[in-house]
Amino acid sequence: MSKTYKNIKGTFDIVPDPSISKDASPFSSGQWIRIERVVRDVVRRYGMQEIRTPILEPLDLIARGIGQLTDIVSKEMFAFSRDNTDYVLRPEITAPVVRAYLQHNMSQLLPVQQLFYIGPCFRAERPQKGRYRQFHQFGAEIIGEPGPMADVEVIRCMVDIYKELGITNMELRLNSLGDETSRPQYKAALQEYLEPHRNDLSETSRSRLEDNVLRILDTKNPDEQRLLQDAPRLSAFIDSESEDHFNIVCEMVDKAGIPFVHDPFLVRGLDYYTRTAFELESPDLGAQSALAGGGRYDLLATELGSKNPVPAVGFAAGIERLLIAVSELGDTAAIDDGPDIYIASLGDTALKWAIDTAAALRSDGGAVVTALAQKSLKAQLKDASKRNARYAIIVGEDELQSSVATVRDLRKSTQEEIPFASLPTLLKRS
Ligand code: AMP
Repeated sequence: MSKTYKNIKGTFDIVPDPSISKDASPFSSGQWIRIERVVRDVVRRYGMQEIRTPILEPLDLIARGIGQLTDIVSKEMFAFSRDNTDYVLRPEITAPVVRAYLQHNMSQLLPVQQLFYIGPCFRAERPQKGRYRQFHQFGAEIIGEPGPMADVEVIRCMVDIYKELGITNMELRLNSLGDETSRPQYKAALQEYLEPHRNDLSETSRSRLEDNVLRILDTKNPDEQRLLQDAPRLSAFIDSESEDHFNIVCEMVDKAGIPFVHDPFLVRGLDYYTRTAFELESPDLGAQSALAGGGRYDLLATELGSKNPVPAVGFAAGIERLLIAVSELGDTAAIDDGPDIYIASLGDTALKWAIDTAAALRSDGGAVVTALAQKSLKAQLKDASKRNARYAIIVGEDELQSSVATVRDLRKSTQEEIPFASLPTLLKRS
C-alpha cells in the first residue's frame, strides 16, 4: 500500500465545505473570509493601515535574552537552526511589527502609526479545543503615542469587531501594571509575601517565584488563588502618573458604554509591558475563554534596539476563538462564493461555445463556471446547484442554431429564453 499523508496535529485545512471531513477546520473558507472582512471593515473605520510581516523571523527577536535554541524555547515555539542562523515561526505578531517599524524608520512618515495585521502564528502547545499549533491572529497597534486615548482607541476598536459580529456576552478585564519604577517594588513585595509559602506552591509557581513572580497572579490553582487573596496589590505600589493614566482609560472605556472590571490580578509575563493591560473573555468559550488580549508596551522598542523610547499599545485576538464564539450564537454566515452563472452545454460545439462565452462574461466582471467535459444535462445542473450558482445557461444544438439560450434562475426556479447577445444583462440583475 502506498503511503498517505495527513496535516500535522493542531493545524487545520480550511476547506469550502467542512461537512466532508472531521479533520478539517469546522468552519468553511466562506466563514473565515466573512470574519476577515468584518475585521478589515472595522479597523478601516479606525484608520488602521495593514502591515504584513514574514512568518519566519530571527529567533532572538522573540526569545531575547534567551538567545540560543534552548529547551525552553524549543518547548514553546517552532524554532530551528540552519546555516548557523536560528529561526522561529512567529508565535505572535507584535514584536515583528515593532521590528519592522524600527527597521524601516516608519515614524519618519507618520509620527503615530496605526497598524493592523491578520495572519497565522505558531506555538508548540498541546492541542485542544481553542488551542492549536497553527492559529490565526488579527490585531492592531498604535505606535508612537504615550497618552491614554491611544489605549482607549485600541480597546474600542477591539470591542467593535466583536459587537459587529453580534457577540455581546463578553467580559473586559482591565488593570494597570505601573511603570518601570513601580513594578520592581511590587515584584519584591510579592516575592516577600509568597516566600514563606514556597512549599505550598505548585512546581510551576515555585519556579516563577524567582524569575517571573507576576505570572503567579495568573494561576488557575484554587489553593494558590486563595493564598493570593491577601497578597499585596499592585495598585498600592503604582506611580501617580500611571494611576492618572489608568483612571482616564477607565473613565473613557466606561463612557464608551463598554462594561469592564478592574482585575488587580491581570498581568503580562514580560517586562516590556507598562501601564494598561487588558483581556477580553467570553464565558461561552469554555476552558480557552480568552478572545483577545493586549496592553501598553512602552519598553519593547528599546528592548529591540531603539535609541529612543517608542510608546505603543495594541491588542491581539484569535480568529479560531472568534469563529467558535459566533457559531455558539448559531451564526454560521459565510460569504457567498457561488458563481453568477453556470453554463451547461450539450455537444462538442456547445462545449466550445460555453468556454468562449464564459471568457466573454468574465471580462464583463461575471463569475462564470462551465462544465469542462461532456456530461449529461442532469449532471451539469446538479453541479451548478452544488456550486450555488445563481443562473444556469443551457445551450445545445438548437440554441446554437437560434442564438437564443435557455436560462434557469436556480434560486427562484424560473426559466426564460435570452438571446446570446443579451446574456451579459444577467450580470446586472440583483
Ligand atoms: P496572546 O498573545 O497569548 O495574548 O494571544 C492573543 C489571542 O490569541 C488569545 O486571546 C487567543 O484568542 C488567541 N490564541 C493564543 N494562543 C492560541 C492558540 N494556541 N490557539 C488558538 N488561539 C490562540
